[in-house]
Amino acid sequence: MDLVADHIAKIAPSITLQITSQAKKLIDQGEDVCSFGAGEPDLDTPEFIKEAAIQALQTGKTKYTASAGILPLREAIHEKLLLENNVDVPASQISINCGAKHSCYQAILACCNPGDEVIIPAPYWTSYPDMVKLVGAEPYFVETKAENGWKMTADEFADSISGRTRMLILNSPNNPTGAVYTREELEAIAEVAVSEDVIVLSDEIYEKLIYNDRKHVSIASLGKDIANLTITINGFSKLYAMTGWRLGYTAAPKAIADAIDTIQSHTTSNVTSFAQYGALAAIKGDQSFVQDMVDEYDMRRQYMLSRLKAIKNIRVIEPEGAFYFLVDTTPIGLSSTNLAEKLLSRYKVATVPGIAFGHDKSIRFSYATSLDVIKKGLDRFEDFCKSH
Ligand code: PMP
Ligand code: GLU
Repeated sequence: MDLVADHIAKIAPSITLQITSQAKKLIDQGEDVCSFGAGEPDLDTPEFIKEAAIQALQTGKTKYTASAGILPLREAIHEKLLLENNVDVPASQISINCGAKHSCYQAILACCNPGDEVIIPAPYWTSYPDMVKLVGAEPYFVETKAENGWKMTADEFADSISGRTRMLILNSPNNPTGAVYTREELEAIAEVAVSEDVIVLSDEIYEKLIYNDRKHVSIASLGKDIANLTITINGFSKLYAMTGWRLGYTAAPKAIADAIDTIQSHTTSNVTSFAQYGALAAIKGDQSFVQDMVDEYDMRRQYMLSRLKAIKNIRVIEPEGAFYFLVDTTPIGLSSTNLAEKLLSRYKVATVPGIAFGHDKSIRFSYATSLDVIKKGLDRFEDFCKSH
């Protein structure tokens, strides 16, 4: 007898998380591993955020909260979305979830019926297709090209729509490519979504990790019609270095927001009460450290770009957002899994194989790691490339 349900057989564990724990295990065993694995800031959560959570604990904020989250936090997110993103969603339609990963899953669960198709531009963040499969819907991939900046055009989107299409998952700035969609590109995509009635899940978790004076644009800000179809998702993991806290949120049209709240009320109840007070401090507090953090990532990004460009038999394009490089390793000729395994076992460099993102001729480097590790790791990667 199968002990596990059929729908679980269709999905696999997260490769990004697997690589991270593999690398951590080797480091714990005393190995000198340079880890470019999971996209997890190497910086610690700012002190004032920790203090707010400690204070919440000490003042008895230890009970269940409303399932969608504490009202002051939802109101603060409403204000943030209005002022920074020009997205007007009332606090009553904002839900605080256990990380943006959980937000994405609940949004898909709230909207998709078994058999529906969900369009996902590839390369994509590893968890989207599995989340879609978990609810019985089907991912439909649109392959993007490096020469187009790894971005899906509105025409490609329109061509991929079928009678079963229910949702588009957009992720800008993008994990793993670093692509950032412009206002014009998003306007063209929004026009197609509205005319074809396709729901847009807009994952904006890297919105502030953006370089070269690029501006982040929220697709829900581009008019009432597209706002009525869009679920805007964001979180605290990347920007505030709060990955372990598990805090993300959805801002959605009323019917979808109500469905998300219902799901959450029966599954997690609410996000950890005192963590929500940490998030409140984060969003309300002095944001000046954000620019320092972006400057630090930008410095690492530029260093990596110049080093990677100098290495023969790989190809790389400049990422404009997030904290990843998707390095095209086609000339080396190995599958991404094989390549990443060799790099880790022989050269002690942890990367994520591109297969995790739907691109088997590449590996992903996260530069959310110190410059010292980056320098040493790239020396080793260069040696690897010379010998292949
Ligand atoms: N979306 C994207 C594109 C991501 O890379 C991640 C990775 N952390 C998430 C969502 C989820 O983040 P979290 O659950 O830590 O908020
Ligand atoms: N999103 C990060 C990554 O892509 C963290 C790991 C995960 O949540 O999958 O590496």
